[in-house]
Amino acid sequence: MATDLLRDADIAMYRAKALGKGRYAVFDREMYAQTLHLSQIETDLCYALDRQEFLLYYQPIVSLASDRVTGFEALLRWQHPEKGLIYPGDFIAIAEETGLIVPIGEWVLREACQQLRTWQQKLPSASSIYISVNLSSRQIKQFDFVDKLAKILSDTGLNGQNLRLELTETMLMDRGEKTIELLGGIKAQKIQLIIDDFGTGYSCLSYLHRFPIDALKIDRSFVSSIDAQGNNCEIVKTIITLAHSLGIKAIAEGVETSYQLAQLRNLGCDEAQGYFFSQPVNCHLAEALLPNV
Ligand code: C2E
Ligand code: MG
Ligand code: MG
Repeated sequence: MATDLLRDADIAMYRAKALGKGRYAVFDREMYAQTLHLSQIETDLCYALDRQEFLLYYQPIVSLASDRVTGFEALLRWQHPEKGLIYPGDFIAIAEETGLIVPIGEWVLREACQQLRTWQQKLPSASSIYISVNLSSRQIKQFDFVDKLAKILSDTGLNGQNLRLELTETMLMDRGEKTIELLGGIKAQKIQLIIDDFGTGYSCLSYLHRFPIDALKIDRSFVSSIDAQGNNCEIVKTIITLAHSLGIKAIAEGVETSYQLAQLRNLGCDEAQGYFFSQPVNCHLAEALLPNV
């Protein structure tokens, strides 16, 4: 049918565009299957919140000074009724494109704050624990984002000091002066601000100095390149030095081996997370990792 032909040509055109400027793509069955899969994910994503298919996993973050768990990063998972557990890498981009990330992100924030509050009520030792939540650019562009944050804190009863928000360099730099206003509104609630995946985006050092940031999270790619002989530490070392000269903390992500940890300690890194300590786990397993004194 002519309409099928046009549809297939459209699919190939989008693929070519995704490959970059001046490229072409020839339509094939695999391309069609991939498009069907993505449009199925998109449709299912619309219902996932109502059907309560999202859940959070928690990955502990350890202080390298005390070797104790100081916080958790909340990581989104989607329990799909047919496809099983889906990771953010397979649906966050679609949620961003469709704008669904806004209600989903709000659910994540509320759920993470509520979970920490529940732990605090059970265990006094959890009172100083923080929860770190990833934000998307669509979320922070909402005019009432700061008000929504305040409402979530007051509804859940969580103290702003126990919440950390993770943003990327690109998200911050893209918005220039508007970012200063947004970050000011967040900091007024005593919430901590982290730059996630630091070193992979573009940062303007003068902005970095002006933004009220509390920590830089060193991207996993730099941590994982540290080998058993302690080679390839230069970038990690530079980021830690930069953080400390700005008077803020350095957090390493993706720590998988004892020698990576030893190097990070040597370099004065403040906190770390990664499979070496624990994979992200469900709320029950995370609760067992809370300090019990
Ligand atoms: P991220 O914020 O940089 O989170 C760290 C990712 O690295 C997580 O993947 C985590 O499971 C993984 N990871 C942690 N330690 C290790 C390690 O030692 N080795 C390896 N190989 N991987 C490790 P995950 O959960 O698949 O999340 C991927 C990304 O999806 C996150 O990267 C974040 O950008 C995004 N994301 C996750 N949850 C949310 C959310 O609630 N909202 C938004 N907007 N984005 C989210
Ligand atoms: Mg993160
Ligand atoms: Mg990261």
